[in-house]
This record gives sequence, structure tokens and C-alpha cells, in this order.
Amino acid sequence: MSGLIFHLIPHTHWDREWYLPRAAFQARLVPALDDLLERLQADPGYRSFLLDGQTVLVADYLSARPDRKAEVKALVKTGRLQVGPWYVLADELIPSGEALVRNLLLGAADAERLGGRLDVLYSPDAFGHPAVWPTLAREFGIRAGVVWRGLGGEPGQERDLYRWRGPDGRDALVWHLPPAGYEIGAALPADGDRLPAAWAAVRAGLVGRAAGKHIAVFVGADHHAAHPDVARLRDLLAEVEPQSAFRVSRLDEFFQTAADGANPAPLAGELRWSYRYAWTLQGVHATRAPLKRRSSAAELFLERFAEPLAALARRGGGGGTGGGRDRRPLLELAWRTLVRCQFHDAIAGCASDPSPGARATTLRGPWTPGSRAWRPSRARWCAAACSTWCATIPMRCVIARPTRSTRSCSGIPPPGRGVA
Ligand SMILES: [Zn+2]
Repeated sequence: MSGLIFHLIPHTHWDREWYLPRAAFQARLVPALDDLLERLQADPGYRSFLLDGQTVLVADYLSARPDRKAEVKALVKTGRLQVGPWYVLADELIPSGEALVRNLLLGAADAERLGGRLDVLYSPDAFGHPAVWPTLAREFGIRAGVVWRGLGGEPGQERDLYRWRGPDGRDALVWHLPPAGYEIGAALPADGDRLPAAWAAVRAGLVGRAAGKHIAVFVGADHHAAHPDVARLRDLLAEVEPQSAFRVSRLDEFFQTAADGANPAPLAGELRWSYRYAWTLQGVHATRAPLKRRSSAAELFLERFAEPLAALARRGGGGGTGGGRDRRPLLELAWRTLVRCQFHDAIAGCASDPSPGARATTLRGPWTPGSRAWRPSRARWCAAACSTWCATIPMRCVIARPTRSTRSCSGIPPPGRGVA
């Protein structure tokens, strides 16, 4: 096949915690991003860098380098450093649907504060994907995305481009990473002697799957620093294969043309089977079960108890015992804490022993219904919720029962007899 257009997409994949604890990886992240900022500033040919689709990395970096915030924002604003759309690259099957929504809301807020969000739902390493993934993307104004595990190896799954339809009928254009995943181009050297052989192997892994003439070449790998000279790599590749074009592209730029002349294959439903293509690791759903239960308990508490009562309390207005105060900053803090615990290797339970222990301790903290940390707030929120309801409907008793099931109201005392 000739006349191809290869899009080099420099990136890194950064597991916050995996075979080492989070602090150890943060100690590596800071010099890696120091180096990246300097490369981007020094070399206009290094057009852009994909920072792994998760804004939490910027927060981790700036917690150690607050003096470089303005530089980060300048690079994000000009599109040279792509951040978001996720807050955290979470597992996508273990967290609740609401947790995935909050993850994207937090990522969008962070990215906007930094200068702009990557409008591509980048999911390079989740161990499968839910059927609502395209709907989730569209809810956030995103029309394209990237996946790897969970798809491939079955008849009809031979190409790299899909049109994945969600349960509501909306769809997203999906680029499917090759079997080598986002690491396929990590070892391409900016060295004219070694490049032809290295490129031949990478090219063979990409071109046979190409649905069109535009092909993404991800240049990066787990915890890798930025490729040292991606502009020279592009120029050398153009010499090696003069019949094709080579660009250094942002991920959103690639998707602007990815479907030109292509016919994306239709796709629907959940993606969690790719054992003849890439590790899908469905065994992680059975590991470290107590951690998963704590995560679910925290989700239920926030979704069914804290959020509804906080909304009612805020609607109630006024002061007094705390009614009417806006609890959203506190809830955002709770969600950020929870979503960080849902990082894919952490909540899947495939991180080194200290990491799940640390997440379990965090989840055992204030984000559970029985925690003492919440009791004063809970009482005030209940009081404020009661005053709101009592002002609008003839009711003197409010029962907060955050469960999925319904219950008869016959046990509620008549007006005037019971006060919550
Ligand atoms: Zn990962």
C-alpha cells in the first residue's frame, strides 16, 4: 500500500501506581516532565505531546513543581501539551457509571483551568470497556476515541478503525491500537542506520490493519520520558519511505482525517474479550475483593446519600445550622479522592502490595456512611433537607434511605407526630 500518511503521536503512559507505589512513580514523573517541558520549549518541531489522557499527572507534577505552572498552561493553551479528558485513567468496568461521569467532569474542569481539554476519549490501557463508552463520549462533546484491550482477535475485528454505537444510538469513531498497543513506536530511533529495520517491524504491525490511508504511530511507552528527537525521526522516516507522508500530529488532528476514504467497521456492546489479540486481564475482577467493595460502598454513599442531601440542603437556602451552604466543594474533594483510588491498576488489584493497602485505607476514611468524619455534616444536611421539604410539602418526617429498592411509606408518622 502506498500514499499512506503516518501520524507520529509522541506520548507516555504513566501508571500512577503499579509495580511500585505511587510515590516512587511520582519521583520519576517529575524529572520526566521537567525534561518534556524543556524539549517542547526548545524545539518547535516537537509539535505536541499527549500526556496520557489524565489530568492527575499534571496535578502530581505541579505539587512538586508549582513554579512551572505558567509554563504548563502556556503549552496546554497552544495545544502542544494535550491534557485530559479523564481526571484519572480508571478501570472502566469496576467503577459505577456515575464515577466515570465524575471522572470526566473533573478532567474537563482541570483541563479547562490549564488551557483546554483533549477532545478525544483516550482509553489506552483499561482492561475492557463498557457498552456506554460511546454515549459517555458524546455526553461530553467527544466524537472519537482510542482503545486497545477488550477488542480484537475475532472475525470482523481485523481493521484499525470502528464506528462504535452506544445504547442510545449515538456513536464514536474509534481507533483500535495494534496488538503491541500504545508502545508500538517506542523504540523507533532518530538514527539513520538503525531506523530502517526498526521501522519495517512497526510498519508491518500497522499497515496490514489499516482501514484507510491515515495511520497513527504512537511513540512512547510505560513511564517513558519523551522521545528525544521526534522531528528528526519524522524526517528520517520520510527518507526511508519517500512514497508516504510523515507528520508529527496531535491526537485530535489525527482524528480530523482518520476516516477520510476509510470505511470504519460497525461495533456495538461491551468490549472485554481480546484474548487472541491483547491481554484483556478479566481475572482482575476477582482480585482484592475487599478493596472493590469499599470503592462501591463509597460510590453508593456519595451517589445515594451525600449528593441528594447536599442538593436539598443547598436548595433550602438560609444559614442557621448550615442549611443552604454549598457543599459541592466538599463533595468534589470526596469524588477526587474516590476516583484516584479507581486508577486502573489500583482498583483492578494488580498493583504492588503497598498500593491496594493504601487505597483501602483511603476508602476506609471519610467516604463511608458510618464514618465519624461525616456525622456532623450529615446531621446538618439532614436538618437542612427537612426544612426544605417541610416548607414546600406537608411533611414533618424525612427518611434518608440510600438504597436501590423501594419501601412502603405506611410506617411514616402522620404530620405533627414525627420529626426527623
Ligand atoms: Zn496502565
